[in-house]
Amino acid sequence: MYWKPEIEILPQQQLHILQAQRLQETLSRAANSPFYGQQFKQHGISAEMIKNVDDIRRLPFTTKEDLRSHFPYGFLTVPKQGAVRLHCSSGTTGNPTVIFHDNHDLSSWADLVARSLYCAGLRDTDVFQNICGYGLFTGGLGFQYGAERLGALVIPAAAGNTRRQIKLMQDFGTTAIHTIPSYLYRLYAAFQDMGLDPQHDTNLKLFVIGAEPHTDAQRRRIENLFGVKAFNSYGLSEMNGPGVAFECEYQNGLHVWEDAFLTEIIDPDTLEPVPDGEEGELVFTTLDRHAMPLLRYRTRDLTRFLPGDCPCGRTHRRLARISGRTDDMFIIKGCNVFPMQIEKVLMRFAEVGTDYIIALDTVDGNDEITVKIELQKSWFTGDLEALENLSRRIAHELRDEILVTPAIKLVEPGSLPKSEGKAIRVQDSRDPKEAL
Ligand code: ADP
Ligand code: ZN
Repeated sequence: MYWKPEIEILPQQQLHILQAQRLQETLSRAANSPFYGQQFKQHGISAEMIKNVDDIRRLPFTTKEDLRSHFPYGFLTVPKQGAVRLHCSSGTTGNPTVIFHDNHDLSSWADLVARSLYCAGLRDTDVFQNICGYGLFTGGLGFQYGAERLGALVIPAAAGNTRRQIKLMQDFGTTAIHTIPSYLYRLYAAFQDMGLDPQHDTNLKLFVIGAEPHTDAQRRRIENLFGVKAFNSYGLSEMNGPGVAFECEYQNGLHVWEDAFLTEIIDPDTLEPVPDGEEGELVFTTLDRHAMPLLRYRTRDLTRFLPGDCPCGRTHRRLARISGRTDDMFIIKGCNVFPMQIEKVLMRFAEVGTDYIIALDTVDGNDEITVKIELQKSWFTGDLEALENLSRRIAHELRDEILVTPAIKLVEPGSLPKSEGKAIRVQDSRDPKEAL
């Protein structure tokens, strides 16, 4: 049932005791890094201050800017020779940040990923094809070592070369895949081009998808397309990478591994905790990392805790899927919009295909928003009236959601530009605003 029952079904009260103890240890370690060493001195912080988990609120936050301004070694608690690996974030929102690990950290990370995969249903009898970048990106090695630790046969397929991916699946009888959700549509298109049907011509039975925001409707589409269950995987390189929070067989939110990550949800403006169950910014403190612990790290990801116990028996709380990041919100005609609000509406239309782009432009001094949408093949007909009618309906429903009426451009399936890694949903080509 569980990978590590002594941790996974530990009652919350006992988890809190474990967390407080690990938090103390983490603080003692963190004090050895130049960044925290100086910060602790300045604010009079010490491990003795921590009596229980709530005392975490006495510590300052750590931000991405802190990581960048102390690049590369400012957060290391050990001499450089004590670290054995580094990873960088993909730099979606600016310069990359670097995280160092020692052998303890790598082993602990592999355990977390093994636990996560087991929780989603992977077993040592599975053949696991890891379709993602193997370089600095954490998804490659993170899943590789985690799935190996679990005992699965792992194919380090890396990203790209879709036909070869399919050949690997057929040659080795792949049963499980990890990749980003947007790639699965490309994979499906390749199956079709090759005259194959993944439901009949492969042994696939489990997908692990993550690394980029996607709606539940998007997930259901993927599941229906392949006839394979898809489990949401959440992580970020600052917290190792994959293996932070994962869906179990019930697919009702992501269990966040509270023995390894002390998890808070705060109001990004007031920095106070939000009332239980309300949405806010995720904040993590590592509880089992030696070379580079991070305290109260502001992820910029938005989510909420889900109420109630999970029928799987795991006691680690569940997070709702990420609804966006504070920094992917854009403002158009005075309205705040998150890309996932747009995806949510688009997924209601059966005619809508797999890809879309939100283009922001300045036309005659005014900001304009255009949503370019790939249609399903069967809907891309010459019937202009039907297409115009569809555009109007989409524009109308989007207006209800985002309070601005976007222009709609319906395009052929496969015609929008595809990014190499994570899907890029927003193209902001607006003129820079003059300073007020
Ligand atoms: P970058 O911040 O440069 O993209 P990472 O590669 O570490 O760096 O990506 C981590 C981010 O990816 C998370 O903070 C989150 O915004 C996003 N992410 C990861 N997994 C998911 C998921 N399952 N759902 C939504 N967003 C996700
Ligand atoms: Zn569960």
